[in-house]
Amino acid sequence: MRVLLIEDEKRMAQALIEILRQENYEVDWCADGIDGELAAENDVYDIIILDVMLPGRSGFDIARGLRRKGKKMPILMLTARGEIDDKVMGLDSGADDYLTKPFMTKELLARLRALGRRIVNNSDGSLTYGDIALDVGTSLLRCDSSGQTVRLSEKEYRIMEYFLINQGQILTREQLALKIWGYEDEAEYNKVEVYLSFTRKKLSFVGSAVEIKALRGLGYELRYKART
Ligand code: CA
Repeated sequence: MRVLLIEDEKRMAQALIEILRQENYEVDWCADGIDGELAAENDVYDIIILDVMLPGRSGFDIARGLRRKGKKMPILMLTARGEIDDKVMGLDSGADDYLTKPFMTKELLARLRALGRRIVNNSDGSLTYGDIALDVGTSLLRCDSSGQTVRLSEKEYRIMEYFLINQGQILTREQLALKIWGYEDEAEYNKVEVYLSFTRKKLSFVGSAVEIKALRGLGYELRYKART
């Protein structure tokens, strides 16, 4: 999953980035409220970790702004020590959870996993559609009808995860480029095609009836044709 960290304390941010990357999260970092808000408004991030006291714009204002614009991604707010009002205000402003500084690494990871599970649609921590299940922890793609599994590469995993989280939606090449590589330009568009074809090969390798269908001029969509 892709995490946006909005935190102005550099050492804190660097420590968090290292921990999160070890745990297989993709992390981008903004050190002030204005940049942070702009980045958060991109539909690229699955979870936002948001400090309250920031230069430019406060975490409360950012959370409120995102919710007002209809953005629904989970927000974990980092509040100052013991300031109960911060917690209340954080939740009122639209954050889903808060963590009081200083906090233990394992506490942060537990909260993130809990927020991540709201996105994951299965109690065993996998994303499912049709006859496939993608294990979020191990990147294993499993086909229920054949019983076959295959490990996805990092990019294949991101692609599959993005499709599974957005089931029933058509995703454009631009959205995929932005989501998987973090920015969009012509070079990334070509990569999208290449990695889509790798991902399709994995789907057919496990014998799944799920396909990534290209819709001319529109984008791509997951389709499932159950075999009878
Ligand atoms: Ca701060």
